[in-house]
Amino acid sequence: MLQLPEDFTLQMEADLGKEASDFFNALSSESPTSIRYNPNKQSNSQHYFDGSSSIPWASKGMYIEKRPSFTFDPYFHAGHYYVQEASSMFLEEALKQCVDLTESLRVLDLCAAPGGKSTHLSSLISDDSILISNEVISTRASILVENLTKWGKANVIVCNNDPEHFCDLENCFDVVVIDAPCSGEGMFRKDKESINEWNLNNVNICSARQKRILHTASKLLRTNGVIIYSTCTFNTKEDVDPINDLLEDGGWESIKLNTENFPGIVERESKINNEIYGYHFYPHKIKGEGFYISVLKKTETEESKWPKVMKNVDFTDKKTRNVLSEYIETDGFDFIQHNQQTLALPINLKNEMLGILNTSLRIKKFGIDLGQVIREELIPDQALAMSQIPLKKFETLILSKEQAIMYLQKKDFNTSTNLKGWYLMKYENAVLGFAKLIGNRMNNTYPKEWRIRSEQ
Ligand code: SAM
Repeated sequence: MLQLPEDFTLQMEADLGKEASDFFNALSSESPTSIRYNPNKQSNSQHYFDGSSSIPWASKGMYIEKRPSFTFDPYFHAGHYYVQEASSMFLEEALKQCVDLTESLRVLDLCAAPGGKSTHLSSLISDDSILISNEVISTRASILVENLTKWGKANVIVCNNDPEHFCDLENCFDVVVIDAPCSGEGMFRKDKESINEWNLNNVNICSARQKRILHTASKLLRTNGVIIYSTCTFNTKEDVDPINDLLEDGGWESIKLNTENFPGIVERESKINNEIYGYHFYPHKIKGEGFYISVLKKTETEESKWPKVMKNVDFTDKKTRNVLSEYIETDGFDFIQHNQQTLALPINLKNEMLGILNTSLRIKKFGIDLGQVIREELIPDQALAMSQIPLKKFETLILSKEQAIMYLQKKDFNTSTNLKGWYLMKYENAVLGFAKLIGNRMNNTYPKEWRIRSEQ
């Protein structure tokens, strides 16, 4: 049996009554392993997880029987799938029930690192929609950039800000996802360290922080826009109280979801001063970790004003565009120069995305970074290899599994070829990145921070 803090045990016994012993037993059992495929890269990677079963509330989610070594799987690094705990994939069902995903939406993921919800959102929204994915802690924002770059979509912006910094975007979003920092009770089974960090004082600190984040976020929604609030914890102070606080301000309603098809998810209707519908995932009732989710809709009428395109945008000149069109399929994209890099933006979203450059947000990723055009040559960026932009000029070198792992470890190796120039490195169907070949030697340009740091 897990050694749990006494206050936590008392809290769960009070909440769950007779079921508490089943709950404690489940905490001592093994965590299920699950992944979510990238619908844009899925073909041919599925063979990898034979015998897996689907997650009822996530169209691309799968439970895997045995946990493989994800670190030494090239498909993992190529963004073919994301390793994510199953309960949190319920975000998909909540979105589908509350939002028309065929519409052009403006979505903000406010607490986004390492990127589970953001990669999921980016697979669910239409290509006419925009996702702004934000993380306040800078080292975690880098990991978010890495994961969203691997996921490969062009309609995504990553920034590194405190929620307060979004004041230029008041009343702008159709959806704001708040996967709040919490005391992590739902992660006790997976992450034993979180047990040691838990205490009632920390629960109170988390609750106060969640109230602040929710209150700040509430200003960012359009009329009829929705906040999807979630935590990976079980207690009322962090799940229900912050929502009740927001409802007290007025102009919001709590949305009831239909969970008929998902037995095991517990709907709790709380009536403090307001009616609140919340959905609890307990490890003894569903195959996944502890999770809580609740949806709020803004009923107050507000005027929505997206920031205007900044005036001094440096659009790529004709000569550079001609160079680009030798290397990539340019249809559907416009190009700008930003911090010496050439960035590709979907033409249909160009103005909306450029409006974001006109805010004070600290931007870490903006569309697809193609690389640098120097003396009529494109020095390609890793993001181009990870994207869905069709390549023209680059040839491909197919690597063995052993070579693929060496490439991902950022080791240079002998290719036994006489090839010269920039090549795309591929293992089976997984595109891994670029390298510059010089006869049988290579310059491995895989990003240093992304490399596999261990040996097989
Ligand atoms: N949504 C992520 C995912 O699915 O991969 C997990 C998010 S995690 C539960 C919460 C995140 O909130 C952390 O990355 C944490 O750094 C960030 N955070 C911490 N304090 C915050 C604050 N005051 N405002 C906003 N985000 C904060």
